[in-house]
Amino acid sequence: MKLSKTNYLIYQDCGKNAWLKIHKPEVYKSQPLSEFEMMIIETGNDVDTLARGLFPNGVLVEDRDDTELTKSLIEKKTPVIYQPVFETEKFKMISDIFVWNSEVGAYDVYEVKASNSGENKKAKDEIYSNDLAFQYVVLKENNIPINKLYLVRLNKEYIRAGDIDLNGLLTKEDFTDKVNGIIDAVSSDMDSAFGVLSQTEEPHGECKCITRGRSSHCTTFKYSNPDVSDYSIHDIARIGLSKKKLEDLVDMNLEKFSILEVPEDFELSDIQKNQVQVAQIDKKLIDKNAISEFLETIKYPISFLDYETFPSAIPRFSGYGPFNQIPFQFSLHIASEESIEPAHSEFIFSESTKPDIEFIEALQKQLPKTGSIIVWNKSFEMGINNKLVERNPEYKDFLENLNSKVVDLEDVFKKQMYVHKGFKGKTSIKFVLPTLSDLSYKELGIQNGAVASDTWNKIVTDQYSETDKQTQIQDLLKYCKLDTYAMYAIWKHLLSVI
Ligand code: SF4
Repeated sequence: MKLSKTNYLIYQDCGKNAWLKIHKPEVYKSQPLSEFEMMIIETGNDVDTLARGLFPNGVLVEDRDDTELTKSLIEKKTPVIYQPVFETEKFKMISDIFVWNSEVGAYDVYEVKASNSGENKKAKDEIYSNDLAFQYVVLKENNIPINKLYLVRLNKEYIRAGDIDLNGLLTKEDFTDKVNGIIDAVSSDMDSAFGVLSQTEEPHGECKCITRGRSSHCTTFKYSNPDVSDYSIHDIARIGLSKKKLEDLVDMNLEKFSILEVPEDFELSDIQKNQVQVAQIDKKLIDKNAISEFLETIKYPISFLDYETFPSAIPRFSGYGPFNQIPFQFSLHIASEESIEPAHSEFIFSESTKPDIEFIEALQKQLPKTGSIIVWNKSFEMGINNKLVERNPEYKDFLENLNSKVVDLEDVFKKQMYVHKGFKGKTSIKFVLPTLSDLSYKELGIQNGAVASDTWNKIVTDQYSETDKQTQIQDLLKYCKLDTYAMYAIWKHLLSVI
C-alpha cells in the first residue's frame, strides 16, 4: 500500500475512518455521495482547471499514475506542469501546479482550493498547511528542488465585472513559513499514519465520535457503533456544542445511548429538555397562546414564497462574487382567505444567462401588493433579496418592501411554540411537514434543495438531452411547489390547533 495525500488528510481527522476507506471500501462507500458532496468535488475540479490560467501553457500529466512523465518533465525544467505525480516507497500524491523559478533554480508549488478565506479560515489554513507539508515531504524524498509553497484560493471580496479577472478572483498566499513550522511533525505523523493504515487488522477501540453530536459523525458511525439507537443522545439539539454534557451522558451507559433513557434531572437547556421530554412521554408540547400571537401578525392575502438558488464558486455573471447564490426559481401560493384553497404561481429561469431581472420582475408581477409573505428560514430569502438589491439598485424599493413583509414560519418551531417527537429536534420543513401532515417529499423526482440546485446547473450547462431537460424542469417545478404548499399546510395545521 502507498498512502495517498487524500487518505493521510482523512487520517488526520480520524484514523479509523481512513482505515475503513482503504480496507473496507464497501463499508466506507455504503452511503453514496450526496449531490452536495458531488457538487463540491465538481467545483474543486472547475476551480483547479480555471487556476491553470494563472500560469498558462503548462503541460498536463493526464495519467494519475504517470510518475515517469512527471520525472522527465521535471528533468527538462518544464516551465509549468499541471497535476505532476510523485511517489515514494510509502506515499503517493498529485500536486496541482508546478512553476519553474529560473532565478532560484527550483519549482514553486501551487495548491488550488475551491474555497475562500471567509468562514473557518484558521481551521482551513491548518488543513491546507498539512496538505502542503505532505507534498513537501514527498518532494524532498524525490530530490525535487522546491522554492516556495503557495495556496491559491478564491478571493471573497471579488465581484465580477465583465470577463473574469483571474488575478482578482484567485489569491496566491505564501504558505512556506507555515509549512516549515510543521514539517517535522507532519513527517513523523505521516510515518505513523502509514504504520496504522498499512495494517490489515481493523483498529480497535471506541469511536471518538461517541462524544460528538450527530452532525459530526462520519458515514461509518453506524458500522462502528451498531448498538447506538437511531434516535440517541447525539441527536439532542446543539449537544455537540456542549462536550461536557455529552460526555456525562455517555458515561451514564444509557441503554443504546437512547434519548428515551436520559434521566429527568439531567441538566439540559430548555430547548433540549423539551425535545427529550416529548420523545419520552410521547406527547406534543404546544403553546397555543404563543402560536395565536404569532399567527395574528400575519396579514391577508398571505403569500407563501420559496426560492431555489445555485451557489456558483466561479462567478458566472457581472455583479456576482464567489459562491454568491444565483436565484433561478420561485414558487408562490397565495391564500386570500382561510377557507379557500390557495392560488399557485411560479417562475423558473432555464437559460444560461443572468436571471436577476426576470426573477425580480416575475416576483413583482406575481406577488400581491399587500399582505404578509411567509417563508421558511427568512435569513435565506431575505439575504437573496439583499444581494439582488446590491446588483440591481433600481429594484431597491420593491425588494426592501418585500423583505419588510416577511414572516418566518420556522420560528414557530425554532422558538418551540410547537414541539413534536417526530421533528427529532430539527426545525427543517423536511422533518416538520411529514410529521404534521400526510404530505411528503418522498415521491418526488427531486427531494431536497441540493439536488434542485445541481439539477438546475446541469440544465443550464447543457448536461441533459432536450427531453431529459424538460423532465428535470417539471421535477424542479413540482419540488418548489411542494415547498410552498407545505408552508400553507403547516399554517393551516397551526390554525386548526389553536
Ligand atoms: S464515527 Fe467518528 S470516530 Fe468513528 S470512524 Fe467516523 S469519524 Fe472516526
